[in-house]
Amino acid sequence: MSIENAKGMLLNATKEKYSVGAFNITNINQMEAIIEAAVEKQSPLIIQTSVTPAKFLKPEVIVSVYRTLASSVSIPIALHLDHCTDVDFCFTCAKAGYTSIMFDGSQEVFEENVRKTKEVVDYCHKIGNISVEGELGTVSGVEDQVRVSEDEAALCDPLEAVRFVEETGVDLLAPAIGTAHGIYKTENPKLDFDRLSEIFNLLNTEEPMIPLVIHGGTGLKSNVVRRLILLGGSKFNVSTDLKHTLIDTTYEYILRNRQEYNPGKIDIVVRKAIIERISYWIDILGCAGKAS
Ligand SMILES: [Zn+2]
Repeated sequence: MSIENAKGMLLNATKEKYSVGAFNITNINQMEAIIEAAVEKQSPLIIQTSVTPAKFLKPEVIVSVYRTLASSVSIPIALHLDHCTDVDFCFTCAKAGYTSIMFDGSQEVFEENVRKTKEVVDYCHKIGNISVEGELGTVSGVEDQVRVSEDEAALCDPLEAVRFVEETGVDLLAPAIGTAHGIYKTENPKLDFDRLSEIFNLLNTEEPMIPLVIHGGTGLKSNVVRRLILLGGSKFNVSTDLKHTLIDTTYEYILRNRQEYNPGKIDIVVRKAIIERISYWIDILGCAGKAS
């Protein structure tokens, strides 16, 4: 059985200095592609949905496909809800069988973020072994319903991060360090590596306890990714890259085969293209062969 929450696999990743890919899906074909690639690479895996696709596909449907696919392979796989700003929908997904939940209170004032995140943590820990990710500071760009302009993006304060973890009991923390959702406007985005390192050291004093999450993975160069991992990023979110792969592959296929009406063939080329992207990320993140 390989249905797991995110915390256990991320603690291992933190200890061994690699990162587990957390890949966003909007349909079932993508979920199958991601699992196939991770099995091939023998990598632990986090599949995530943001709120809109979760509501569209329905949490129960996503969970039932996830459980069917994950229980037939030997790698550990977590199902994670990404950037949810609604406490009740966090409860809905936890109850349906998601094994990991992100409550995103980063747009709220600190006290409100703490209060709501703690509510989600208390619920998830009460009903099962469900890990909870919180966010502190704001990641710029657009992720599903959350839109933050670059000027509004505020980086995570290290001492506040300590208070946040203590007061909420979160399992995973996404500290804003300058990464962004979407496509980076510059080739070398300004990332605050020192801040990441300071937060990591404050939260993981003797042994790894609070895995850190890097949002906005798309477009970061492999040497930057490697540096973020060495400084403590053990969950690495990739969404935009997979959206582009799906849309571009579909568009190019249709352009080449405009007279054909066989959607199954599009699914096949899309799945192959996504498998290639996931394999690329798994190699960069260093999580190949870490499934056991
Ligand atoms: Zn994100």
